[in-house]
Amino acid sequence: MSEIMPLVFERSVPGRVGFSLPEQDVPETDLSQIFDKKMIRSKKADLPELSELEIMRHYTELSNHNFGVDSGFYPLGSCTMKYNPKMNEKVARFPGFANVHPYQPESSVQGAMELMYDLQESLVEITGMDEVTLQPAAGAQGEWTGLMLIRAFHEANNDDKRTKVIIPDSAHGTNPASATVAGFEVVTVKSNDKGLVDVEDLRSVVGEDTAALMLTNPNTLGLFEKDIVEIAEIIHDAGGKLYYDGANLNAVMSKARPGDMGFDVVHLNLHKTFTGPHGGGGPGSGPIGIKKDLIPYLPTPVLKKQDDRYVFDYNYPESIGRVKPFYGNFGINVRAYTYIRTMGAEGLKKVTEYAVLNANYMMRRLEEAFDLPYGQICKHEFVLSGNRQKKLGVRTTDIAKRLLDHNFHPPTVYFPLIVDEAMMIEPTETESKETLDKFIDTMLEIAREAEEDPELVQEAPHNTYVKRLDETQAARKPVLRYEHES
Ligand SMILES: *Cc1c(COP(=O)(O)O)cnc(C)c1O
Repeated sequence: MSEIMPLVFERSVPGRVGFSLPEQDVPETDLSQIFDKKMIRSKKADLPELSELEIMRHYTELSNHNFGVDSGFYPLGSCTMKYNPKMNEKVARFPGFANVHPYQPESSVQGAMELMYDLQESLVEITGMDEVTLQPAAGAQGEWTGLMLIRAFHEANNDDKRTKVIIPDSAHGTNPASATVAGFEVVTVKSNDKGLVDVEDLRSVVGEDTAALMLTNPNTLGLFEKDIVEIAEIIHDAGGKLYYDGANLNAVMSKARPGDMGFDVVHLNLHKTFTGPHGGGGPGSGPIGIKKDLIPYLPTPVLKKQDDRYVFDYNYPESIGRVKPFYGNFGINVRAYTYIRTMGAEGLKKVTEYAVLNANYMMRRLEEAFDLPYGQICKHEFVLSGNRQKKLGVRTTDIAKRLLDHNFHPPTVYFPLIVDEAMMIEPTETESKETLDKFIDTMLEIAREAEEDPELVQEAPHNTYVKRLDETQAARKPVLRYEHES
């Protein structure tokens, strides 16, 4: 069992230093000549005193306390935690990309603008939309931006009774949140016993007040909405727009395009499908693609190609305005561009094929020990229920914690909300069969433990740096600063 390492302050030894500077050979500056007196410290700062080696060890240890896709399998459903190729990092660090400044004149950053333009064009091709903007910084911001465009479209048509956005009960929480922030009222449409949008229920909630339907396809159960063409007709006939939550694009990329399914707006999560890192909650990139009739409302500036020059066009009088300073998270866009170019069209097809194959392989092996509420062929992810284990007193949280003992990141748990004790598993295409098997065997072993030694699972994790936390307390009374006794 590992103990928490002593932190940097506890390791401090008075007088120890981590630097070597030459003897001071110039007179000491009188700070009071430069600063106001009350800004000058009267007491020495209480900082730890350590050697360079100790500092090195401190930060290396801290980095080892983290779990990332570079340290182990991370089957976090809906989030596509796939490998982030190191080639992307290398390209993002090219001085010509890393050192450009957003206030530079356009004439001096034509290469960076060309990359952004080509990325927009690639995403147009991949999604089947008419135009793409790279501005939004995340999927959720893409959702909000897309809904604001839909709102501007209805307003321009004097169609001001369209106040409602329809969202399935299986949707990701950001969907209703974005709709609310964009000023809409959320209406829920039910899923049927196959886990798909209940088309009859949809007919009953759609109407003259429908602004849009937000849909994830495949949905958060990993199931393809096979009635999508009919669904699109129902919404369009009623005068509404179709919004595609592209977080699950990995499941259909290069096989089917939201633009061809009838969607009017799509967001993509470049930090999911297109291998941008998810580190520390960002930065991300959530470009949106739109159909022609929404173009006038695009956030400005719009990046365009005129003859052989790239320009930022601000002349969009009906624009919803800027949604992010400058032009999006350029560094993540460079990584996504690098990924698309290294994979090529054929490579992106393979991504989807392996992502789907891996998910189905795991699902079929795991259904032996766990309940599988929707058993049809899945796309890139599937959802198990921990109901069988719950009857033995072992909850899904316990299973998730026990996985930590085996150096696996847990799957997404208790989501989607329509599955009891849900475990949403997304293996992604970048994992080997050996890793998939190891995870499956571990899950089967945990299921056995739940029967034979439930306490072992209930009290997990046993060998992590931090044991089971009081999550309620952590949320109510967060201690966000390290404090030490000086
Ligand atoms: C991740 C996710 C989002 C939100 O995307 P962010 O980039 O995290 O803001 C929306 N919908 C689904 C289904 C997701 O998985």
